[in-house]
Order: sequence, then structure tokens, then C-alpha cells
Amino acid sequence: MVTQIESESRKLLRRLRGTLAEPGDGQERLDRITRMIANSMGTEVCSIYLFRDEKTLELCASEGLRAESLHTTRLRVGEGLVGRVAEEGKPINTANAPAERGFRYMPETGEERYSSFLGVPIQRLGETLGVLVVQSREARAFSDDEVYALEVVAMVLAEMKELGAFVGEGAALSAPHTHPLLIRGSSGQEGSAEGHVWLHEPRVVVTNPVADDPERELERLRRALEKLRVSVDDMLSIATVTADKEHVRVLEAYRMFAHSRGWVQRMEEDILRGLSAEAAVEKEQSLARARMQQVPDPYLRERLSDLDDLSNRLLRILTGQASDLGARIPEDPILVARNIGPAELLEYGRKLRGIVLEEGSVGSHAAVVARALAIPLVVNARNITTEALNGDLILVDGDAGVVHLRPEESVVAAFRDKIAMEAQAQKRYASLRNKPAVTKDGQRITLTMNAGLLADLPSLPTSGAEGVGLFRTELQFLTRSTVPKRSELVAQYQRVLDAARGKPVVFRTLDIGSDKVLPYMRPQEEPNPAMGWRAIRLGLDRPFLLKMQFQALIRAAGGRPLSLMFPFIADVEEFERARALFEETLEREAARGYPPPGSVRVGAMLETPSLVYAPRRFFEMADFVSIGGNDLKQFFFAADRENERVRRRYDTLSTAFLALIARIVERCADTGTPLSFCGEDAGRPVEALCLAAMGLRSLSMRPASIGPVKHLLRRVDLSEARAVIDEAFERGAPSVRPAIIDWLKEAL
Ligand code: PEP
Ligand code: MG
Repeated sequence: MVTQIESESRKLLRRLRGTLAEPGDGQERLDRITRMIANSMGTEVCSIYLFRDEKTLELCASEGLRAESLHTTRLRVGEGLVGRVAEEGKPINTANAPAERGFRYMPETGEERYSSFLGVPIQRLGETLGVLVVQSREARAFSDDEVYALEVVAMVLAEMKELGAFVGEGAALSAPHTHPLLIRGSSGQEGSAEGHVWLHEPRVVVTNPVADDPERELERLRRALEKLRVSVDDMLSIATVTADKEHVRVLEAYRMFAHSRGWVQRMEEDILRGLSAEAAVEKEQSLARARMQQVPDPYLRERLSDLDDLSNRLLRILTGQASDLGARIPEDPILVARNIGPAELLEYGRKLRGIVLEEGSVGSHAAVVARALAIPLVVNARNITTEALNGDLILVDGDAGVVHLRPEESVVAAFRDKIAMEAQAQKRYASLRNKPAVTKDGQRITLTMNAGLLADLPSLPTSGAEGVGLFRTELQFLTRSTVPKRSELVAQYQRVLDAARGKPVVFRTLDIGSDKVLPYMRPQEEPNPAMGWRAIRLGLDRPFLLKMQFQALIRAAGGRPLSLMFPFIADVEEFERARALFEETLEREAARGYPPPGSVRVGAMLETPSLVYAPRRFFEMADFVSIGGNDLKQFFFAADRENERVRRRYDTLSTAFLALIARIVERCADTGTPLSFCGEDAGRPVEALCLAAMGLRSLSMRPASIGPVKHLLRRVDLSEARAVIDEAFERGAPSVRPAIIDWLKEAL
């Protein structure tokens, strides 16, 4: 019985190989293939549909359907049985096609005469390229063996299509990886970049999907698996010695898969059915990818993604293609990856012009690092890793979250204009670098920058920032895989203070927990992580890390002034407890002989609406208050800052939000507490202007925003802006934005 199955698919694959070897262009090849399959499987019809654009399938070759319908019959994804196969990525096998859900009668093909239908997706690594169909008049369901055989043939077709074997006339037969493509993702970091693709993990190309000698292929697979296991064991022993726990965990999962009987058995069966060892690995990888797209559980997805990674390693061993494939990183690299860890991204560093991730998210650690490095980033760029080839021209529009791959000349020209305009503006801002941000009516606004990595600090002198208003200390924790030693933290904070050369730096203590999980912390399952056990809540419950941070900061200051603030304070008691813990540490450090900081300022971030209404003693006790507008806004409007659907829905310049700001200004003025604003909005010129008009005299933003904000502030009269805002309030306007924009048009 098993021999029978094997011989069926093997026979088909052997014939396919013969057909592919004959000379001819893409169309001739497709025609021959459909003829051969119909003949081999004893069906009247065999057809190949390929995508001509993202949504439309085109009948490209057929044995049995009318010749006039070739290249004219088109179907949308989901339309008819063929469209359904493409949509669902699964075979449809029916003895009575006209009775099947979604059957669509297409008179031009004459297919109503055929009762049986078997359609399988032509898929490569989870991406559907088309549909392969056989039909017959006789009302019979196809056997499992026949379905399997057709699926394997479809996989080989997908591989051959990728290699350019079916290039011909028209969009459906266009050469792969040559046409321009616009991919809409989400913005991870603003900015525009032009460059050439650098694939973080280039695809392995399987050039020999079909093999004659299964014994030889089994032996190749066995040897490759052996090598793989040895290399995983080696990696594991190194990781265990270096005590890199996160890495060890991933490698242990790798080892489990590498020894998994099920995985190996499936690949062996595929080989017995006529595939080469490489093709067998890729077939299983494709299946895992398809599953990955449907699994909602993040833990399982991660495990499937481990298997994907392991398959890539195995393919590299089998094909002898090294991970860099001999390619050299271009001068102007735009990194393209499915996803990338923060540490790997830091290794590339500033040499990257842009980053495009197929997965990733606005809040991922990679995004955090890209932001720190000010590299334009687009996340959620569907299919980018399957479409892009090393060296392709690519434009990254980080503002709109759009990527142009292999763009037309007109697009390149327009994009270059945009970049040139941005560069011109940057020049203008550079000339303001050493000038203060003083408004026309003489109000002095302090502009500082946000930072989080040592890599940020070179921007301090070049941006014109007067200091660091927010140093997000968790970034240094997030980008490593083990908990940093106290001595390492001391060295890091020392370097930050040294680089600041006497300019003030406000260190924010760890804002971790929930979604910002440290690799070395056990993840907490929380229904609403942003409102969960995070930041100071975690710090107070587990004071070990917080105390260690305090010690490191005190030691790093070594007699210099020290400013620190606590994230996410929601009530006065949290602040009291955190401050007391700090003061206790300060005393202990002094007792141990460490010199106390020259001066100490302990502030709170105001990120929850509750703190606006805290008792007066909170404002008296805090040495300063910094509004974390990103969080404050998300909790004020109850709109998740990570959720694309809602994150731009509510306006910072709404009178509701500005009324809250006015209240904070009032409360701080009442107790003489210095107030600043360090959310993203501080870096948007119009928003910054309004915040200043509401009474804020200190704004902290990403370094690239300092120029544009200063440029605008120096050209406006704040009291006039305030009058415009007050008037909008009196009128009952929902937002002051339209009035301010109109006024700016006049005033500038
Ligand atoms: C904020 O919430 O505005 C803020 C500055 O902190 P983060 O963006 O790191 O949460
Ligand atoms: Mg915050």
C-alpha cells in the first residue's frame, strides 16, 4: 500500500522533472505541465492559476478548458472554488463541484461539464502564489494519495516559479522579484530613507526539489540532521557556560525539535514520495509557517518560529549556502527581516539607513532601539522578506509606514525631493543649535532630549539639547539577555554623565513589567499589561532591582548632581515609599563610604490622571514633576497607545486634554514645583507650542525634534497663542488645533 503511494507521487514528480528539463519559454513549460498532469492522473482537465496582482488569479495554462479562456479568465481571491483554495490555503476535493459552496460557473471555460474538482494551493513558505486544479467528468472524489501527489507537484511549481521558470508575457507570468511593490505597514519610527536591501537572513533557494534516489536523499538528510544536532549542542554548551538563560531556553527548544521523531519522520516520508532532502525540509517549514499564521497563542507561535529558524539552519547545511551567501552589506543598507532582537539590531547600529520588519510591532524592543538610534522603521510590512532580494532598491517612509520596493523612477524622484526638503530643514535647524528657545514675547523654554542608550548620547551636542530630560533606563536592561551586574550599571551611568559634560540628566528608574518583559524575568500573564504590574508598582513589590539601580546611580554620580524620577506614580503613597527607599539607600551608601551626589532631585512622572488630583503634599514633596504624555493621554482617553485603530483617534490639542494640562500647571504653580513634559507630543512643533502656551517651560523630546520645535517657538508670541487657545475654550470648541493652525498661518 505504502509503496503504491510512493510510486504514484514519485512517478508524477519524475515526469515533472522531465517536462521541466525540456527547452521552451515559461508558457510552453506551463502548457506541458498541465498536459502531463492530466495525462498522468487520468483527468480531463488540469489548470494552473497564478496571481497577476495581490488579489486576482489568472488562468495561465490549461489542458481541457477552452483555449480562449487562457489569460482572460480571472478570479478574485475567495471567488469560486479556485478563489477559495487561494484564500484558505487548503485543498478542496469534491466529487460534485457545482454543489460545492462558492462554485462559480464560468461559461468561457466550459467547465460546467466537469463534476469532480481537486484544487491545491501553489505555496512557498506560507505564501500562496497560485492554484493547481484537476477536474474530471466522472463524479469521483480524489484519493488521499492523489491529493498528496498534487500538493507535492504544486510545491515544486512554487519553487520553480520562485526561480523564474515560468516567465512570459503579462502580469501573471512576470519575472519574480522585478516589479515595483508598495507595501503598507505601520510606522515604527519616523523619517525617510533610501537605500538597498540587506536581508538579515537571506532565503535559501532550493534548486533541486525533485530527486530520483530516495536512499541517497535520506542519507543526506540524516547527515545534515547530525550536523545540526552537533551545532545546536555546541551552541548550547557555550550558552550554558556564559549563563545566557534566554538563549539557553531557545536552544533547548531547538534541541527538542532537532530530535523530534515526528518532524524527522514527516521529512523522511516526503523524501520517499520523491522530494529531495531540501524540498522535504522546506515542505515541513511551509506547513509550520502556515500554522504560525493561524495560532493566536504567542507562546506556541514562538515555538513554531523556533522550528522555522531550525529549518533554515538545516537548509543551509544541506545546500551549503552560508548565512550571508557571500553577499556584501551595501553602503546604504536598509535592513529587511521578519523580526529582529534588540541586541542584534544594536550590533548593526547606526550604519543602517532604515529598517523594515515583516512582523514586529510599534512597541517591540526592536522599535525601541530603532527609535533610540533614530533610524526610520516600518513594521508589519507584509511579505517583505519573501519579495525583497539583497541589493534591491528600497524607499522607507517611516512617517507614513510605507515601503516602496524596486520603485519606479517617478516615485524615486518624488521621494528624493522629500528627503532633500527634510535635509534643508535640518540645515536650518543646525544654525539654531546654540541659540536659546526664546519666544517673541521673551519666554524662555528649556528644550531637553529623551534618551535611553549610550548610542543616543552623541546627539546631545549636535541637537542643541540642553540636557537629557528623560533617560529611559530600562532600555539597557531590555537589550541584554542577562540581568546586568551593579558594577556594569555604575559604568553605564558614569558614561552617560560623562557624555553629558555637566548638562543635567534625569534618570528614570526602570519602567518594566507586563509587555516590557525582561528576558530574565518570568513573564506575567496579565489581561491588561499597560495597566498591570509595571514600573514603580513592580519596583516597590520587588525592591531588589530598584535598590540596585539607586546604588548604581549614586556611585556613578560620585559627587556630581543626581536627578532621578519614578515612572507611573499613581498616588502619593507610592511616591513616598519610593522616595523613602531611595533615601535609605543614600544613607547606606554614605555609610559604606561612597560620596553622596553633589545635589539630589527626586521627581515623579505624572502618567495617570489620578495624580493630577493627589493631595497637596505630593506636589510639595516632589522636587519636580514630569508629564509622561504618552501614558497620560492613553489613560485619559482610554485609548491604547499601541493600537493602530485608536492611537491617533483623540487629539492632544483637544480642549479636554488641555484642560487637564492646565490643571497640572496650576497645581505645580501652587507649590512652586518645577514641571516638564516628556511624552512624544513635546517633539511635535504645534503641540509643543500649545504646551508652552499652557505654561510649560521645559519640554523633553527625541533629539531630531529639537530643531523644528525651537525654530517654531522662536517665531511666535506665546501670549497671543494663549489668547487663541482661551478663545477656543470659551467658544466650546472640541479642539484648539484648527484655531491655532489658522493663527499660525497668519502669524508666521
Ligand atoms: C510617557 O509615557 O509619555 C513616557 C515618556 O514614558 P514611556 O513613553 O517610556 O512610557
Ligand atoms: Mg510612560
